[in-house]
Amino acid sequence: LSPAGAVSRNPASGALIANYPFHTAAEVEQLLGANAAAQRQWRDTPIAERVSAYRRLAALLRENSERLATLMTSEMGKTLAAARAEVEKCAGSLEWLVAHGPALLADEPVPVEGGDQVFVSYLPIGTVLAVMPWNFPLWQVIRAAGPIMLSGNGFVLKHAPNVMGAAFALQELYEAAGFPRGLFASLNADNDTVARVIGDPRIAAVTLTGSARAGAAIAALAGRALKKSLLELGGSDAFIVLADANIDLAVKAAVHARFQNAGQVCLAAKRFIVERPVLEEFTRKFVAAARQVTVGDPLDPATTMGPMARADLLEELHGQVQRTIAAGATLLLGGEKLPGAGNFYAPTVLAGVVPGMAAFDEETFGPVAAIKAADDVEHAIALANTSDYGLGGALWTGDTVQAQRIARRLETGGVFVNGFSLTDPRIPTGGVKKSGYGRELSHFGLREFTNAQAVWVK
Ligand code: NAP
Repeated sequence: LSPAGAVSRNPASGALIANYPFHTAAEVEQLLGANAAAQRQWRDTPIAERVSAYRRLAALLRENSERLATLMTSEMGKTLAAARAEVEKCAGSLEWLVAHGPALLADEPVPVEGGDQVFVSYLPIGTVLAVMPWNFPLWQVIRAAGPIMLSGNGFVLKHAPNVMGAAFALQELYEAAGFPRGLFASLNADNDTVARVIGDPRIAAVTLTGSARAGAAIAALAGRALKKSLLELGGSDAFIVLADANIDLAVKAAVHARFQNAGQVCLAAKRFIVERPVLEEFTRKFVAAARQVTVGDPLDPATTMGPMARADLLEELHGQVQRTIAAGATLLLGGEKLPGAGNFYAPTVLAGVVPGMAAFDEETFGPVAAIKAADDVEHAIALANTSDYGLGGALWTGDTVQAQRIARRLETGGVFVNGFSLTDPRIPTGGVKKSGYGRELSHFGLREFTNAQAVWVK
């Protein structure tokens, strides 16, 4: 294997799928030049025409759904059903942008005294470099690129090395949909090249979805180059269950929220904070439901949970589980790698997890649920906020009026009452604390990478 390339390996079998040699310096130069030229053309393209390209891209995603879904499943192990749903989510999100984006990017009048004409224009800023993770190989990209490009910006994608096939497939679809050639460009590069690209004058800003470690590195590089950055980082979402909650519905949601995508979701429920009167019932039913998660070949329709994406991530997760047990937590289910080929980890439930233990303090990016008792509502809120992260969170209760008061006290970018954290083109997504800054999706995402230009005409 060449060390100078991205390697894509099937996590269900360990088999090599492809080796993509990194772009050479000359290819990077060519890519940035073509992208800048395409952005100048796109910037001057009326929004009605941009919207037509979005419509065609949505249609192409749907037409290629089977191919794209199979590619994602083989590259990172999500179930085929989940991969198909991801393609559909991308198409639906582009259609939402088609329907609402132009109005949200239109000039905004500002009423002033006298006859002056005052308005705010949302102008493109150039090209945004996007450094992306592998867990939702298409959706992470589309949720960034959709809003960013509609305003007239270019987009350079530095995808995670294990899903480079998905990155190049998306680039092809953008070109087939009629976007100017090179406007959406997949860059296959190591971190040193990414650092140089961030400093390149043809890059206006950077967006990253990934770990806090990557966020700190990218934000420092962007800061040095005086460029805006947006960070969508990790999370350790609380899933609070109060004594008056519907436990059966809460359990059903909890199992999905934790084990979807083999637990590799930034917004997944990770810390289950349960009021004491319902702790025994919730725990018993949650463990029973987690036992029903069918782990296996992600291409098999009977499978509900596939492998983890990479062997090293499985080892890291297992280490967190072992440290948590050594610190006094009780293992109720799983806690081990499944025998045989592939990165399969058993659905795992830990009880008696308290602050200071790995599964409470750190992000667990895999199928591991940590349960913690709360003495009362105040204690539940305090525990939920005892985290370096602040991405999303769920709150289960029969009292939705009280829930809205509690929501305001949770230090997170989102609160989902009687539901679970999710992304949706209509609402902003993003975090506070070490979960990052800035927002994607909705009108926030559309305007994040624009120049809000004030025009005052006397
Ligand atoms: P990761 O290791 O941080 O990698 C994410 C991306 O950043 C990859 O493309 C990676 O490329 C790149 N990267 C890492 N360090 C870099 C550096 N110093 N310079 C340039 N690029 C760098 O994260 P991951 O394991 O792929 O994804 C899991 C993490 O992402 C979790 O923490 C998860 O919570 C977070 N996430 C957050 C959201 C959100 O919306 N907030 C969504 C999904 C995932 P290389 O591998 O080539 O270094």
